[in-house]
This record gives sequence, structure tokens and C-alpha cells, in this order.
Amino acid sequence: MRVAVIGAGVVGLATSAALLEAGAEVSCFEAVRAMSQRSTGSSRIFRLAHGTQRLVSLAIEARVGYARWSELAGRPLVGAQRTVVAGPVVPSWAAAMRAAGAEVRTPESGAAGVGLPVSVRDGPVLVDPAGGVIDAAAVGEFLVSVVGRDLVPRAVRRIGVDGTGVRVFAGSSGGSSGGSSGGEYFDACVLAAGAATPALAAQVGLVVAARPAHHARFTFRLCDSSVRPPCLLDKSESWRPGFTSYQHLTAPGRWAVGAHQAGLDESVGEVDRQAAIERAREFTTAYVREMVPDVDPEPLEQLYCDSHPDWGDGFVVQRAGAVLEVHGDNLFKLAPTIGHRLALAALDGSTPTSALT
Ligand SMILES: Cc1cc2nc3c(=O)[nH]c(=O)nc-3n(C[C@H](O)[C@H](O)[C@H](O)COP(=O)(O)OP(=O)(O)OC[C@H]3O[C@@H](n4cnc5c(N)ncnc54)[C@H](O)[C@@H]3O)c2cc1C
Repeated sequence: MRVAVIGAGVVGLATSAALLEAGAEVSCFEAVRAMSQRSTGSSRIFRLAHGTQRLVSLAIEARVGYARWSELAGRPLVGAQRTVVAGPVVPSWAAAMRAAGAEVRTPESGAAGVGLPVSVRDGPVLVDPAGGVIDAAAVGEFLVSVVGRDLVPRAVRRIGVDGTGVRVFAGSSGGSSGGSSGGEYFDACVLAAGAATPALAAQVGLVVAARPAHHARFTFRLCDSSVRPPCLLDKSESWRPGFTSYQHLTAPGRWAVGAHQAGLDESVGEVDRQAAIERAREFTTAYVREMVPDVDPEPLEQLYCDSHPDWGDGFVVQRAGAVLEVHGDNLFKLAPTIGHRLALAALDGSTPTSALT
């Protein structure tokens, strides 16, 4: 079978790798550069901890997938730091983890003693021993090496269902528009184009409701570069009502903080990107000054992306004829299993069941 994959972020590359392993012929189209958009940067958080048993089970599958990729890549792609979750979700998330057979600890002493450089004031925490930092850059290098010459540096302009297959119209290499006027025929197509997915999906009648919001993550210098703290998902709002964050190592001595303050309108289109980044920098550094005593509060780096808080923690897959589209807001941690499921579905005509919180 000939399969077109549109997008070489982590999802498109994982799908392409699984398709190649299954013996399919793959063209993975990329408009800009592999791993340059929502999948960009050095690191992400891996966790089994999720709000439903199904998502925990999918994360267990993804952890096995990452272990396999690590073996093939010859280096660990997920670190052993662990992930800590704080806040009112802890009892239900811990129950979902137990129901899925995942190991979880809920220390009586809360966050004290789990090795975070951050103060988490009161309330329950869970420790997810299988969590840790995903080496996103290494994952990208590995997947690009697997997909290799099947990576096509061309932007797809248009797709259309054609009989039992799909026609893909791409620009010529180098990014200019054009290409063959009749398009190229494929038996199946997986649309994993990140921010461009809603517009491309609409061309085959699939509706992807998108309300993107600005998001910026900032990296700070840890005072003690020898420490290896766990990743943190802090939903406790213990600093200010409506303030939540995720935090993790990005490299030795580097601590990233991505924060969200409820009540601020960060909608793309409504709020200027630069203004949103400045506002995020202000509330993130104010938080860091008060609550993260073990870092220098001057940000060293920032990483911007649009996010889709409405899409929750899982993924959605829809089908129109031979086209599958996938979207979600936190896809990196699940990439091996999403890629595997999309590849199988592209080959056998099924539609993977979406998984949402
Ligand atoms: C700062 C930040 C922190 C995050 N933290 C986490 C985390 O801790 N854990 C987690 O699991 N997730 C996290 N995420 C989310 C996660 O990184 C993304 O969900 C994931 O990388 C999305 O991958 P993707 O392949 O769907 O999209 P992308 O990486 O955006 O890939 C889509 C690709 O499609 C290409 N494309 C678009 N249009 C076309 C076209 N017409 N033709 C050809 N190609 C096209 C784009 O150029 C792009 O390369 C974070 C994201 C950011 C930015």
C-alpha cells in the first residue's frame, strides 16, 4: 500500500516509522522542517498519570514503545526522573492508575521529600515512578533517521478523497506552490499536520474545532546543576487561584516552567502573540521568584507554541474515506502508541478509538 503522511512532527514521524515497519510505501510530507513546530525543543514530560484508566493504559503502551525506540536508537529517550502530580486531581488520577495496573505512590507527607526544587504548599501529590523527561530532540533524530528518504520536503496544498484512495496535491520542493496538477494518488492518507490539520481536514469534510491559545514555556538556571528533580504537573493552585504549571529538567542545571493563569484571555487572533508571551513571562517569573527558590529567576530561554486547552489530555481520530486525521494537545508522551494505531488503521481501513479526558 502507498500511504501519504502529512506532517513530520512527532506524530507524523511515529506513524511513518510504524507504516514502514509494516511494509507500506510511505511519503511523509513536511512543509517546513521535521520536528520544527509543536514538536520543537529539547524535552517534554512523560507520565503514566492521566485522568482515565484508558489513557493510563495507552501511556503504558507508549512507555513500552519508547523503550523499544530507545533500544533501536541506542540511547535512553525517556529519563528516570519520575513525575509528580499535585492538586485535587490526585485521588482520581491515582485510582485510574491503579485500575490500569500502573505503579503509583501517594506519600502521606505530600510534596515534602520528593525532591522538587519547588514549593507546593498543601494537598495531595502522587508520584509516578515510570514518568520522566522525554529527550524530544533525540526522539526526533531517531525518527528522522528511520523515515529517511521517505521524508518529502514539500507542503501539501490540497487533499481530496478519490474513489477508494486519496489524491494529494503538494507544492514543489523548496516550498513554492505548484506540483503536478493532477496530484498524486495514495491508497490512504494520515493527516498529522498540527496547526494546519483543521484546514486540511475541512477539505475532506472533517470538522476539527480549534480554539488555539498562546503558550510560552521558560527555562531557568538551577542553582545546583547536579540535582535531578522529578517532573512536576502542579494543578494545586496553591500559589494563586487559577495558576497551574508543569515543570521539568531540559538539560543538566536547566529547569523549565510552563504556566497557565485562568481568567487571562490568551486566544490566538484575539491577543497579540508578543503581548501574550510578555504576560506569561511576567506571571511565570513572579511565581518562580516566590515558589521556586532553587533557581535563578531570570529566564534563559523561551519556547512558544499555540496550544489547545479544549482538546484535553488525549487524542481524537476521525476518518473520511481513506483519510485519517489526528489532533490533540499533549501528544508527545503518547506518540509511539498513536503512531502504531494510526499506521494499522491506515492499512486495514479501521478508525482508532479516540481517547479524551
Ligand atoms: C512548550 C511545549 C510543551 C509541551 N509539553 C508537552 C509535554 O510535556 N508532554 C506532551 O506529551 N506534550 C507536550 N506538548 C505538546 C506536544 O509537544 C505536541 O502535542 C506534539 O509535539 C504535537 O506533534 P504533532 O506531530 O501533532 O504536531 P507538529 O509537531 O506541529 O507537527 C506537524 C507538522 O506538520 C507540518 N505541516 C503543517 N502543514 C503542512 C502541510 N500543508 N504540508 C506538509 N506538512 C505540513 C508542520 O510543519 C509540522 O512539522 C508541549 C508542546 C509545547 C510546544
